[in-house]
Amino acid sequence: MKKFHVLLILASFSFGSLLPATSAQNSYNESLGTNPKLVVGIVIDQMRYDYLTRFWDHYGEGGFKRMVNGGFTCKNNHYNYAPTSTGPGHASIYTGTTPSTHGIIGNNWYDKTSNRIVYCASDDRYNSIGTAMDSGKMSPHWMTVTTISDELRLFTQKRSKVIALALKDRGAVLPGGHMANAAYWFNGGLEGNWISSSYYMEELPKWVRDFNKSNAGEKYKRRWDTLKDIKTYVESGTDDNFYEGLFGGEAAPVFPHDLPAIWDNNSQFDILKGTPFGNSLTADFALAALDGEKLGEDDITDFLAVSFSSTDYVGHQFGVNSKEIQDTYIRLDQDLERLLKALDKKVGAGEYLVFLTSDHGAVDVPGYLKDQKIPAGYMDSQGMSSKFKEFMSFTYGDANLIRNFSNASFFLDHDVIRNLDLKVEEVQHAIGQELLRYDGISRVFTGHQMVHNEYTKGIPYIIQNGYNQKRSGDVLLVLDPSVVYYPETGSTHGSPYIYDTHVPLLFYGKGISKGSTVERTEIIDIAPTIATLLGISFPNGTTGNPIEEVLD
Ligand code: ZN
Ligand code: ZN
Ligand code: ZN
Repeated sequence: MKKFHVLLILASFSFGSLLPATSAQNSYNESLGTNPKLVVGIVIDQMRYDYLTRFWDHYGEGGFKRMVNGGFTCKNNHYNYAPTSTGPGHASIYTGTTPSTHGIIGNNWYDKTSNRIVYCASDDRYNSIGTAMDSGKMSPHWMTVTTISDELRLFTQKRSKVIALALKDRGAVLPGGHMANAAYWFNGGLEGNWISSSYYMEELPKWVRDFNKSNAGEKYKRRWDTLKDIKTYVESGTDDNFYEGLFGGEAAPVFPHDLPAIWDNNSQFDILKGTPFGNSLTADFALAALDGEKLGEDDITDFLAVSFSSTDYVGHQFGVNSKEIQDTYIRLDQDLERLLKALDKKVGAGEYLVFLTSDHGAVDVPGYLKDQKIPAGYMDSQGMSSKFKEFMSFTYGDANLIRNFSNASFFLDHDVIRNLDLKVEEVQHAIGQELLRYDGISRVFTGHQMVHNEYTKGIPYIIQNGYNQKRSGDVLLVLDPSVVYYPETGSTHGSPYIYDTHVPLLFYGKGISKGSTVERTEIIDIAPTIATLLGISFPNGTTGNPIEEVLD
C-alpha cells in the first residue's frame, strides 16, 4: 500500500513537471504557496464556539458540517485581547494583530486628541453613496495598519479584486482594508438598500442598483417561524421567559414573530437585522457580488469578505440560550450551504479557499445564570457612579479629573492633574484602588502598568493586547466573570473571559489540510495563515503566527 502511494506521488511529480506553467500567476512553487481563484472570509457576528457543537445535529451536510468534515477546525481558538467587540474583532481578524497595534480599541471610543467620542468606521470627509442619509460616511482611516486584503492588492499590483459586505458598516469597512475595490453595508429603516461611501466610488455599480431595485429585502417581510418543529429544539431553553427582550409591538418573546404586523413598530427594514432573514439577505447580496464583480473568474486571486451580522442582533435581544438563537443558526447553516454551492458552481469546487470565524463570543444571560446558582450579575452603574463621585470630591476637591468613562476605562485629564501638582500614575493608582472595592469589579489596571510591564498570560495579557498607548484610557476595569453593564434581557460581550474569547475557526478549500487541532490558536493567527497560503506579505502590523497544521 505504501509503495503504491510513493509510486503515485512520483508519477504525478514527473507528469506535473512536464506541464508548462500556464501563466505568471500559476507559476508559484507549490511549496511556497497556493493560488486559489478566490478567498472568502466569513465572519459570523457573536458566534460562540459551542454554537458549532450544540446545534450540530440540526445542521445539514452542506454548511458548517461540510467545512468541518472537509477542512480544518481549530477547536481552541481565542481572542487574545479585550474589549471583545465588533470593530476590534473584524480589524484583528484581517490585520493579524490586536488593538494595541491596529488602533481599533472599541466600536466607539473617547478620542483624547479631539476630546469627543469617535466611531471606528466613520469618516465625515466622505459622502454616502446610495442614500441621502449620513450612514454611508465611512472609511477605514482609524485602522492604522494593513489588512490581508490590502496585502493581496499590493502583491498583485491591484489586479486582484477585494469586495467586502455586511449588514453592519464596520463589518464591511474594516475587513475590506484601505485598498478595497468596494465595501457595502445595509441601510435599513425606510430604505432597505445596500449602500457605500465615496471613499470607494462615485456611484453604486449597476449590479448593486439592480439588487436594490429588485426589492430583495421586501421578500423577507414575512412571519419568522422556526424552520423545524420547535419541539425538536431541545438544545435551547423555553421560548417564553424573562431573559429575552421584546420586539416593539410584541407581548411575549415567542414564535411566530409576525414581521408584517410589527414592521412599523421596529423601524421597518431595521427589523430584518434582528432576524435570520438579515443573514439570508446578506447571502443573497454576496451571491449577487460574485456575479456582478466576476469574482474568482480568472487566475488572479480575488477576495470576498462577508460578515453575517444578524446573529449578533438576535443574541443581544434573545440571548445565548434562546430558541431564537438556535433557529438563527440552523437557518444560517442553510445560507452557508447556499453560498458554498454557488462558489462550487461559479468559481469551481477546489478552486477557492474559505475561512470562517467570529468577531467575539457572548455571555449567557446573567439573570439566567444567577437562577442556575452560577455567580453572575449586572453592574449597578448608578450606585457605582455616585459612590465614585463622592470619593473623587473627597480626595481631589472640585477638580474635574475625569474626562470620560467608556469601554470599561476611565480617561483622566492629565492637564488638570499636573496643575494640581499630582502625578498621573499616582492618580491612576488611587482611582484603581478605590474602584477595586466596588461590587462586580474584579481587577483594575492602570495605563502606567500597561506601559511598564510585559504580561505574557492570563487576563493581564489580554488587557495589555487591547491597550493602545496613544488611544486607551488611564484606569482599566475588569468585571467579575458573567457580570455585565447591560440591560437584564439578552446577551452581550466585551469581556476578557472565555465565553467572549472562544470562537470557531474553520478553514476549507484549496491548500487546506483535513483535520483539527486542540492547540491554542489566536485570532491574530488567521491573517498570517492566509498570507502564508497565498505566499504574500503578512499585514504590516502582524503579531500572530501562521497555524502550521492548517497548511496542506
Ligand atoms: Zn460583533
Ligand atoms: Zn423566545
Ligand atoms: Zn454585539
